[in-house]
Amino acid sequence: MSHVFPRVAGALPKAVSAEGVWIEDEGGKRYIDAAGGAIVVNIGHGDGAVAAAVSEQMARFSYVHGSQFTAEPLERYADELAPLLPMDDPMVYPVSGGSEAVETAFKMARAFHLAQGADGRHKIVSRWGSYHGNTRGALDASGRMPLRAPYQPWLDKSIHVPPVYEYRCPMNEHPESCGQAHAEELERVIEAEGPETVAAFIAEPIAGATLGAAVPPDDYWPAVVEVCRRHGVLVIADEVMTGFGRTGMWFGVDHWGVRPDIITAGKGASSGYWPLGLAIASGHVGRAVAESGFVHGFTYSHNAVGTAVGLAVLHQLIEGDLVEACRANGELLIDGLRDALADDAIVGDIRGKGLMIGIELVRDRATKEAFQRDQHVAEQVVRTARDLGLLLYPSTGCADGVNGDLVMLGPPFALSGEIVTEIVERTAGAIRSVG
Ligand code: PLP
Repeated sequence: MSHVFPRVAGALPKAVSAEGVWIEDEGGKRYIDAAGGAIVVNIGHGDGAVAAAVSEQMARFSYVHGSQFTAEPLERYADELAPLLPMDDPMVYPVSGGSEAVETAFKMARAFHLAQGADGRHKIVSRWGSYHGNTRGALDASGRMPLRAPYQPWLDKSIHVPPVYEYRCPMNEHPESCGQAHAEELERVIEAEGPETVAAFIAEPIAGATLGAAVPPDDYWPAVVEVCRRHGVLVIADEVMTGFGRTGMWFGVDHWGVRPDIITAGKGASSGYWPLGLAIASGHVGRAVAESGFVHGFTYSHNAVGTAVGLAVLHQLIEGDLVEACRANGELLIDGLRDALADDAIVGDIRGKGLMIGIELVRDRATKEAFQRDQHVAEQVVRTARDLGLLLYPSTGCADGVNGDLVMLGPPFALSGEIVTEIVERTAGAIRSVG
């Protein structure tokens, strides 16, 4: 028996190598990584320049404590990333993953208000239908029922507003200016709590795994940011999934010209080559927090090898013009999927931006009725896809917290036309296997 505590029940194939969009297992079976793991591998697998950056940095030194030394890759990474960020004078706090980045962002927000003498501001407002991580604070902000359920007695400090989910719009009669209606609801909640108690509003620019790439209406982000600014509430854009080009622009909020106070990132920042997350404060927040003596830190924060990886990944994104490749290939892929699945009765919606694409599967297309959870439709599609040599990323519970089936696609950005066609055909084959 294996001594590994498994992530999931059942036997898994053993991966032995990976290159570009392909992963190979020990039996020689090859899979197209159409989900980049969990929408992570933006630059593709097996990048020699990133491997070289790791070994070069490790040969110099691999670990010094972030409170005792700074490091060349750390300084360079922050300097080269800064101009790409939709923020003024950004200050980058590297950590080990998305959940740590979110926890760090919450503490930054709280510390900022303390530094301003606004001691009462501690509440976090977030959305149902969101995902911000699995540590307790990040899970509390998340609005993903199946993940919250077992830990419910520990939760409920965050205040949740409705999800931004156009396919099943929670706003009455889905008004044309739906984004404005969401902003009014956010303002109502902030006023009911007392603005002097609210520290920050956190949201994914485009909803990730919980709602499968649900894109907000265009008036949403500008309207919620305006409400937050008016009430002195910091805006945290959780770009862990959307960041580093995934939606066809450098950051998800770039689609709406929004400039958050804090950005969290992870996944694509290192493309999976190192456990790297980032909490990034805009200058006015970061300086106030740093000058007040930020009470926070992790053993592995500000890591030299992690930031050397981040820097090498950043160079690959820029030199390969991969953000533009993501935008163009995203259009090809979503158009291909929409064409191929136009007549499939169980395909309710195909949505997304760039190469962050969600397919929502329903029992009845006309009524949008979801499958019952015990039918395990998303799991069945993912299993069949795997048999066909295609890796997809499933999610459940989108419709009502229990029922609702999604599969997500998020392949590496550099794709040939043949691979796009293969992804479309294998995805369609897997969905059609549901009977
Ligand atoms: N925030 C968002 C938007 C995410 O998609 C995720 C992971 O899926 C997280 C935070 C948590 O990141 P991690 O799994 O690296 O802790």
